[in-house]
Amino acid sequence: MTANNTILRMRDRIAAEAKAYEADIVHFLRDLVEIPGESSHEGPAIQRIRQEMEKVGFDEIRIDPMGNILGRIGSGRHVIMMDAHIDTVGIGDPAEWKWDPYKGKVEDGYIYGRGCCDQRGGMASMVYAAKIIKSLDLHGDYTLWVVGSVQEEDCDGLPWLYILREGNIRPELVFITEPSNLRVYRGHRGRMEIEVHMRGRSCHASAPERGDNPIYRMVPLVQQVEQLNTRLRNDPFLGKGTVSVTEIRSLSPSLCAVPGACSIHLDRRLTAGETRESALDEIRALPAAAGAEIEVLRYMQPSYTGLVYPMDKYYPTWVLDEHHPAVEAGADTWRVLTGTEPIVDKWTFSTNGVGSMGTCGVPTMGFGPGDESVAHSVNERVAIDHLVKAAQFYAAFPLMYVHAAEHASVASAAVR
Ligand SMILES: [Zn+2]
Repeated sequence: MTANNTILRMRDRIAAEAKAYEADIVHFLRDLVEIPGESSHEGPAIQRIRQEMEKVGFDEIRIDPMGNILGRIGSGRHVIMMDAHIDTVGIGDPAEWKWDPYKGKVEDGYIYGRGCCDQRGGMASMVYAAKIIKSLDLHGDYTLWVVGSVQEEDCDGLPWLYILREGNIRPELVFITEPSNLRVYRGHRGRMEIEVHMRGRSCHASAPERGDNPIYRMVPLVQQVEQLNTRLRNDPFLGKGTVSVTEIRSLSPSLCAVPGACSIHLDRRLTAGETRESALDEIRALPAAAGAEIEVLRYMQPSYTGLVYPMDKYYPTWVLDEHHPAVEAGADTWRVLTGTEPIVDKWTFSTNGVGSMGTCGVPTMGFGPGDESVAHSVNERVAIDHLVKAAQFYAAFPLMYVHAAEHASVASAAVR
């Protein structure tokens, strides 16, 4: 019997089971919303997730030295790791919020609050997917790891560099549960944080001719960056690469002195085919960049456990082929569960996929509850119906994936 048939036969029971856990999912997510957890402060939220994993009956629960939590279901051959970063951004100006961002208000079928959409909702749905797998025996030849990762908002990809390079689990698929509006996503643009520094010679501003003002040399460079943005390449799926000057600053002994240094910060979004080196070469080639120092920033913040795992702020573009078995399994899971056609697309923002696939090359895709447009906003909310549907999806997907992966390897063996 194929996975499609198994899931099709079980479809109504999966839906009923997910609906039966709706109150638990809501309760768990509201508890999480009540625990602030900005990057490097996720410890209490991780402990709350451990509690729920224990309650649901995961086969094994680990917290690694960085502080990521990993819960295992099953011990089959195909290893799938599903990720929800559980840190959130801050709340900004509290006066901007119409309700308490740390209360998890429930209204009109939505949960409101910081982090409910981006993206602790994914964690709530995953934990109850594991419960559904256990209660309906949707086990197969797979091992499912449910991962709550840390520090993503500060440095997307970093926890996955750590898990994949320093851990001992070798997944064949990483599955991201960032909000996708229940669409199957298979990539997004990459990004880089670049600074360009100009050195000059400071002097008393009453006699500027004695010095060398680096601001005057930075101005043409800023204009050339603006022009460069219009020439960057476009990709039909991912969209256009972009570059923006997001900060300019100078270093001067006084406002009555010519500054000795001037720096700009560049936010670079990378489309398909653009890399760290190609992006840096474009800046180096600007006429006004002669003599400038160009730097890719580096992330060095310790995690909440105190672990420092430095990483350059280069977050490579990634796209999984639309015919990859994981993408097909994702699309089929949606078809079988809903009887409707899935939307297969990409994220606008960046995710941990820059680490798992962009840097480490592990096939990555995703699907998540919530509308990505409310992430990081004071209107952050997630539909309870999305949480329940995502739990169904995560419960059904592993079996569908095993089937697609084995079918694909049989097909490629036949071609050979
Ligand atoms: Zn996120």
